[in-house]
Amino acid sequence: MTVHIAGAGLAGLAAALTAARAGHGVVVHEAAGLAGGRCRSFFDPTLGRVIDNGTHVVLGANRAALGFLGRIGGADAMVPAASGNLPFLDLESGATWSVDVAGRGIRTLMKAAPGAKALLDLAMAGITGLMRPGATVAAAYGHLGALYERLIEPLSTAVMNCPPEEAPASLLARVIAIRAGGGRGALAPLDARTNLAEAFVGPALGAIEALGGEVRFHDPLTAIETAGKAARAGIFRSGRAPLGPGDALILALTPWALAGLQPRGEEPPSYRARAIICAHFATEGAPEVRQAARLTGCINGMAQWFAATDGVLSVTVSAADRWMTHEVDDIAARLWRDASTAFHLPGAPIPAYRVIKERRATAEVAGGFGPRGEISKLLFAGGWTSARYPDTIEAAVASGIRAARCLETPN
Ligand SMILES: Cc1cc2nc3c(=O)[nH]c(=O)nc-3n(C[C@H](O)[C@H](O)[C@H](O)COP(=O)(O)OP(=O)(O)OC[C@H]3O[C@@H](n4cnc5c(N)ncnc54)[C@H](O)[C@@H]3O)c2cc1C
Repeated sequence: MTVHIAGAGLAGLAAALTAARAGHGVVVHEAAGLAGGRCRSFFDPTLGRVIDNGTHVVLGANRAALGFLGRIGGADAMVPAASGNLPFLDLESGATWSVDVAGRGIRTLMKAAPGAKALLDLAMAGITGLMRPGATVAAAYGHLGALYERLIEPLSTAVMNCPPEEAPASLLARVIAIRAGGGRGALAPLDARTNLAEAFVGPALGAIEALGGEVRFHDPLTAIETAGKAARAGIFRSGRAPLGPGDALILALTPWALAGLQPRGEEPPSYRARAIICAHFATEGAPEVRQAARLTGCINGMAQWFAATDGVLSVTVSAADRWMTHEVDDIAARLWRDASTAFHLPGAPIPAYRVIKERRATAEVAGGFGPRGEISKLLFAGGWTSARYPDTIEAAVASGIRAARCLETPN
C-alpha cells in the first residue's frame, strides 16, 4: 500500500511521518527544490547566513506541533522566546509592560492591565467571543481598553494574521481558551534556536527517510485522474502514480495550488489569503539587541514583533496586505526606524537587510475543508483546512496527522 503526498510543507511532512509510522509506503512529491513550504529557510547572500522566510512562533499549548517535534527529535531546536515575562512596548509613548507567559494560563497572565478585573475581562472575552459567533474581535473586545490594546489586539493580529476588525471573535476565543487554559506555560512562545530547517524540516525529512519514505523534489502534481467517484492516479512531473487498492493521495497543498488541480466533482475551496512581511537586519555587534529578549511585542508602529537572534534582528508585520505595494527599501526604512526606537540604536545608516514580502502567508476558508471530499482515495491537509484553528504550524501539523489517520478507515 502506497500513500502519495503532494506538498512537503509541514502538513505534508506530518502526514508522511504519521503514515510511515503506521507502516504505509510513503512517497512525498514536492514542487519546489526544498521542503518546508511557508516554513522554509534559505541562504541569504546579503546577510551571509541562513535565514527563515519569516519568524515562526509556536506556543506551549500547541500540542500537535510540539508532539511532532518530539517524534522527529527536534524538541530542543525550538527554544523559549521569553523567559517568563514577554516584554511589550508602545513605540509612540515609550511605555513598556510585560505578560507573564510562564505561569498557569490566564491566572498569571496579566501585567499588561494589572488587577483582578483584567483577569475577569480576559476570561469574559473568551466567553463573549464564543457566545457571539458572528462578532469580530474588535466588536467583541474593543471596549476592554488597555487589555485590548496591549494584549488582545497584538495577540489576535499575530495568531489570526488579520486586522481585529475582520477577525472572528469565536476563533480567537477558541485560541484564548485552548492556549490560556492549557496549563503552565500554555502561552509561552517558542522560536527556532537557529532556523526552521534545523528545527522542523531537516529532522522531519530524516525521520521519514529512516522509515523508508521517499521525498522527491521538483516533482509537482500536475493532474489527478479519476474514474467515477474514485481517484485512479496522480500525475506528477516524474510520471503517473497509479492508485491501486489501499493506495491514497494526500493533497497537502495551499488552496491556490489546489485550485487548478481538483478533479471534476470536487469544488475548489473559496479562500482569502493574507500577507506577512518579515525584515531581517544584520545587527552583529549591537549589544542593545544581544541583550534584548528573543521576542518583544510592540504597538503603535509598523513593526509588531522583534525577534533577536544571533546577529540578526527580525521584524514581523502581520496582516500586512496594505504594505504589499510599498517598495522594499521604504519598508526597511520604516521598520528600522521602529527598531532603532525600540532598542535605542542609531537611526542611520540602516544595516544590511533582507525584506521578505509573503503576499499569501496564510489563508482562510470559512468552515474548514476536508480531510475527505467527494472523491475516494483523495485526502486533504494544510494549515488552512482547520475550521477550529487559524492557518498556523499547529493547524498544519494537526491536519497532516488527521489526513494520515483517515488511511486506517478508507472510503
Ligand atoms: C512569513 C510567515 C510567518 C508565519 N508565522 C507563523 C508563526 O509565527 N506561527 C505559526 O504557527 N504559523 C506562522 N505562519 C503560517 C505557517 O507558516 C503556515 O500555517 C504553515 O507553514 C502551513 O503549512 P502547510 O504545509 O499547510 O502549507 P505550505 O507550507 O504552503 O506547504 C505547501 C507545499 O506544497 C508545495 N506545492 C505547491 N504546489 C504543488 C504541487 N502542484 N505539487 C506538489 N507540491 C506542491 C509547496 O511548494 C509547499 O512546499 C507564517 C507564515 C509565513 C509565510
